[in-house]
Amino acid sequence: MNLGIHIQKLHPTNKNNLVIRVSDETEAHKLIDTVRNNDELNSLFTVDTPKLITKRVILTRVPSSYSDDQILKFISSELSCDVSVLSLKKLSKLQSPFYTYMLCLPEIYEQSILNKGRFLLDFHTIIIKKYIKITRCFNCQCFGHVSSNCKYLTICSKCSQSHHSKDCKSDVYCCINCKSLQDTNIDTSHCADSSLCSVFQRLMKEESSTPVFIRTGLTKEQVTTTSNMATNIVDAVSLAGSSVSLPSINGLRVQMLAYLLIMLVWNNRMNSPL
Ligand SMILES: [Zn+2]
Ligand SMILES: [Zn+2]
Ligand SMILES: [Zn+2]
Repeated sequence: MNLGIHIQKLHPTNKNNLVIRVSDETEAHKLIDTVRNNDELNSLFTVDTPKLITKRVILTRVPSSYSDDQILKFISSELSCDVSVLSLKKLSKLQSPFYTYMLCLPEIYEQSILNKGRFLLDFHTIIIKKYIKITRCFNCQCFGHVSSNCKYLTICSKCSQSHHSKDCKSDVYCCINCKSLQDTNIDTSHCADSSLCSVFQRLMKEESSTPVFIRTGLTKEQVTTTSNMATNIVDAVSLAGSSVSLPSINGLRVQMLAYLLIMLVWNNRMNSPL
């Protein structure tokens, strides 16, 4: 059986459930159907995508002459949805002929608005983009926290040495995040804030993925072990030639969850070991 599902990331939740992030909704439903159509898996686990989640999209080049109410009315008619489920936040701070907005909308409308890509409002083209939030620290350049919470050494975003970026005198770019991967195949000759950064690009891919929740009924330790094991396999099979050792697993529920994860991870890359 080859499902062709590509796992972007998986991690346990604080309620001992498991989140598997896959690239889009089609893959998410393939995964959900796989579990539901397998009697044994279906009897042990509840699997679903989160519902009624609010999603955010970015609207750019919105003429400043329109009020928030006018924009919301226009979008609700374009999406054939109730105006009350939408909300709008202006992101532009300065006066300008065009503004950028963040639009919050129920998840069920996200795909259709992104598929449209643009709206024609009178004679103006409004561009719609997916909202992806990735934080990077201006002090240490790491992703995932902001400089006000930073406990690390100051690192230059340009050359990766320990000084403030504004004091940099180097003309050779070296990205600290790519450099710390210690992989000679990864290009490091860019600034840490570059959109070419491979770490940034991987995070973007993970952020834009679709989560599938598996209600596991396992203990925290069991979920963590199973999730780490599958993550190691995801990492290992992406490096050609690595061998993977599987830990011994106790208990039917853990075995079946591990079985499902291994099946998903391996099917996409090589012949299934099971
Ligand atoms: Zn930091
Ligand atoms: Zn520097
Ligand atoms: Zn980089």
